[in-house]
Amino acid sequence: MTGQIYVISGPSGAGKSTIIRSLRDKTSDLVYSISHTSRGPRGKEEAGVHYHFVDRTTFRAMIEDGAFLEWARVYDDYYGTAYSSIEDQLDSGNDVIMDLDPQGAKNIKKAHPASILIFILPPSYEALEKRLRERATEEERAIQSRLRKAHRQLMECVHYDYLIVNDILDKASSEAAAVITANRCAKARRLSEIEKIFKLQ
Ligand code: ADP
Ligand code: 5GP
Repeated sequence: MTGQIYVISGPSGAGKSTIIRSLRDKTSDLVYSISHTSRGPRGKEEAGVHYHFVDRTTFRAMIEDGAFLEWARVYDDYYGTAYSSIEDQLDSGNDVIMDLDPQGAKNIKKAHPASILIFILPPSYEALEKRLRERATEEERAIQSRLRKAHRQLMECVHYDYLIVNDILDKASSEAAAVITANRCAKARRLSEIEKIFKLQ
């Protein structure tokens, strides 16, 4: 059986990366899809771990070559999921978790309708601003731009399967883990294995 795709979205500063990190620590057989981006590394980000960092020319050439399952322009930079980043993992039955903007999430759902879309919300606009400022990974101009886009991005939550409010981190991470656990128990994912074990066919 091929792996399940989980897409995480939410405004910048909502806690997507933090929750994904916690999920990967807690959950077996869950692989992070490393996107390509034309933006530069920030803070302690490492090439090939957080993103594949490429220049704009390379990114555009990859679009021309049809290398991306989905791509989008977000905050003035290019971001995309290359087929090569996820295909082997899905084919080997591993579940893949992606951090995508809402356009990317829609495109993934179109290409893989069984994908599960999870939206992470901050507890308030004030908390979002505080987190972005305390993270201190962007300059003031970029923080302002991300805050201005937060309202429109939050409106996208209606298109998602699960909504998680990241107030207390442990609670939000557990809720995200529960979505994955419940999905792994779903009949659609479990039945063929059970039929084999108990010779039900
Ligand atoms: P995103 O990936 O959505 O942009 P991050 O995971 O980088 O957001 O989180 C933004 C900042 O908020 C980080 O400094 C992170 O440590 C902090 N943070 C995340 N979740 C919480 C939480 N529940 N309470 C307080 N701070 C949080
Ligand atoms: P950041 O610069 O904060 O790492 O990411 C900015 C935005 O780009 C986030 O909303 C994140 O979800 C989105 N993003 C990251 N990788 C991809 C990708 O491969 N495709 C799409 N569509 N969005 C992405």
